[in-house]
Amino acid sequence: MSTNGGRLAGKVALITGAASGFGRAAAVRFTAEGAVVGCADVDLDGAEETATLITEMGGRAVPIQADVASGADCERMADTTAGEFGRLDVLFANAGVAGVGSAVSTSEADWQRVLDINLKGVWLSAKYALPYMLEQGAGSIVNTASVGGLVGVGEILPYSAAKGGVIAMTKQMAFDFSPRGIRVNAICPGTVLTPLVTATYEERAAGEVDPGAAADEALQRMTQKYPIGRVGTTDDVANMALFLASDEAQWITGSALTVDGGYTAL
Ligand code: NAD
Repeated sequence: MSTNGGRLAGKVALITGAASGFGRAAAVRFTAEGAVVGCADVDLDGAEETATLITEMGGRAVPIQADVASGADCERMADTTAGEFGRLDVLFANAGVAGVGSAVSTSEADWQRVLDINLKGVWLSAKYALPYMLEQGAGSIVNTASVGGLVGVGEILPYSAAKGGVIAMTKQMAFDFSPRGIRVNAICPGTVLTPLVTATYEERAAGEVDPGAAADEALQRMTQKYPIGRVGTTDDVANMALFLASDEAQWITGSALTVDGGYTAL
């Protein structure tokens, strides 16, 4: 497959959470549109698998092991990507974990872990990518938030606090850096059956008599809440990331765009 032309031709992208789900789908989609990709994830084997997929497409990728909750790792993932490919045009700050619990049942340790990865990790990813973009006078940052940061979803307190924070932080970063050529937007996806979501349902159903059946039933109920009649796919989200990363979105900044089959329209 030729990757010379396309909507991201000549661009260098860094994707976090690139070992799985939206991150892997975006890595493949960005490659098909001409980008070269730094594939960062705490799961090095998975990041390497994504990089192999890209190589098999005729693209170029560098796998990077990085925990986005660590400033040193975030600095290294930006430096490695820019060092390998000479610049940094796009950051898809997408890595995240599930965070189940109500205001009563959430432990302080869970709160801290989820906020460190899902909120602080998005900030740290930008903190070390931005200097490259500022030097170039151009860049696009796409943060993965969630419908859980916009509306009540139920018993995902630390997760929703982090995702609401990502939306607020996206707007602040857009305010600060758009005058210097860097657009910053957030995507708010609805349910897509990635390992993160399966883990959420399994954790919630753990106390039930038949946890497998309870998780399946809860997922069925969830699907019925989507006006479009299905949950999403990883490509539904990767397509939005691609659009926001590309110059087609050159007048869009500070936005939190839902990709949710109408879930938040109800
Ligand atoms: P996923 O589990 O398939 O992928 C998440 C990836 O993030 C994994 O590869 C994991 O190893 C990585 N990761 C976890 N902690 C990390 C860390 N500390 N440092 C670096 N990488 C880390 O899940 P996904 O659904 O593709 O999730 C991607 C993003 O989308 C997350 O931010 C998630 O909160 C968000 N999201 C998912 C859904 C959904 O329904 N799947 C909906 C809304 C938002």
